[in-house]
Amino acid sequence: MKIDVLTLFPQMFSALNESILGRAQSKNLININVVNIRDFSADKHKKCDDYTFGGGAGMVMMPQPVCDAFDSLDITDDTLRIFMSPKGKKLDQQLVKELSEKKHLVLLCGHYEGVDQRALDLNIDMEISIGDYVLTGGELPAMVLIDAVSRHIPDVLGSSESAKDESFSDNMLEYPQYTRPQVFRGLEVPPVLLSGNHKKIDEWRGEQKKKITLQNRPDLLKKED
Ligand code: SAM
Repeated sequence: MKIDVLTLFPQMFSALNESILGRAQSKNLININVVNIRDFSADKHKKCDDYTFGGGAGMVMMPQPVCDAFDSLDITDDTLRIFMSPKGKKLDQQLVKELSEKKHLVLLCGHYEGVDQRALDLNIDMEISIGDYVLTGGELPAMVLIDAVSRHIPDVLGSSESAKDESFSDNMLEYPQYTRPQVFRGLEVPPVLLSGNHKKIDEWRGEQKKKITLQNRPDLLKKED
């Protein structure tokens, strides 16, 4: 999958070079291209934001650098152009899976009070929010989206890190996990996990999933897929 990210703060994306996503990039499973919108500013001081028409606090990202940055990309019928925005459709595991099947994503990161609406009208296919709160910029939301989507791209996760049996995979949260030692600070691993009886282990995990989902996210149990 190819992902182009348009941002005024490209250095923030160095976090994606670590761990599983760093490995996925070196193996060419995902190709992340971070574009600095400022490079496209026609202003001699590379200015990219201006006051808002109609008054009000804060600055708005100007349409010219954003549109020119889009024009520099190779957009095809396989491209989905997304604006990270608190006004967008809320990202969940279902949407993450759908996005992971796309060949090419472009993620526009807003900053300040947002982006001139005309740049959005001219370039954006959909707006996505990562939750009902307002962040200072779209960079962290774009990284959240990239991380969540990448985990569903074949071979990004090793077999020991499968995305199949995780929270949200069947509208339930995951069961508790334990590793060595068997006793830690007086707390024991549930004996069933040491029994070697896989039927009993599966039953225990199923019960735990139901219990945790009912306790923390009963809304998930009502969802239909
Ligand atoms: N004035 C905007 C509003 O009230 O909807 C908020 C602008 S916010 C301070 C700056 C940028 O951060 C947004 O343009 C968007 O790109 C990004 N952003 C903030 N919260 C977000 C969220 N929950 N999900 C996705 N992007 C978000």
